[in-house]
Amino acid sequence: MAKPKSFEEFYYSKTGRTCNVKDVVDYSKKNHGNYTPFEGAMFCPECEKAELFLVRETSGKRAHLKKKPSSSHDDTCSYIYEYASKTTIQNYVKGLTNSQIQDKLNSIMHILFKVKNQKSNILIKKNISNSKNNSSPMLIPEVKKDVIELKSLRRKSLSSW
Ligand SMILES: [Zn+2]
Repeated sequence: MAKPKSFEEFYYSKTGRTCNVKDVVDYSKKNHGNYTPFEGAMFCPECEKAELFLVRETSGKRAHLKKKPSSSHDDTCSYIYEYASKTTIQNYVKGLTNSQIQDKLNSIMHILFKVKNQKSNILIKKNISNSKNNSSPMLIPEVKKDVIELKSLRRKSLSSW
């Protein structure tokens, strides 16, 4: 099983916006370690189903968010999967036709657009659910011997694309 991923962004259910872990940390610093307004309202930025909690900064690690063990991601959420290796991504892209690459990029643009442009959130979401056939554009198949495994793309690296 994939090792648990940490989150820097989250879906804030009280406002319907995507926020950064920094917002929570800043708030808690100003309020003597308290972050009640965020508690129980932080969810996975992709599926918005899995509930997250704050892991505070330690000497070796920055503050980040983790999934509560009691809650789980949507079946199609790419956070369930291990990150794809560079070779896997390269091999996968090599095997695609130009129009397949275009489709993939379009879907990914929808995800990025959803994060960057909160106002049209609802509209974009509608488009995504219409166009997707049950799998996230963040997932790519990896062929291992005879087994095809789905691996997820790192969201961070997408922004630089
Ligand atoms: Zn999720």
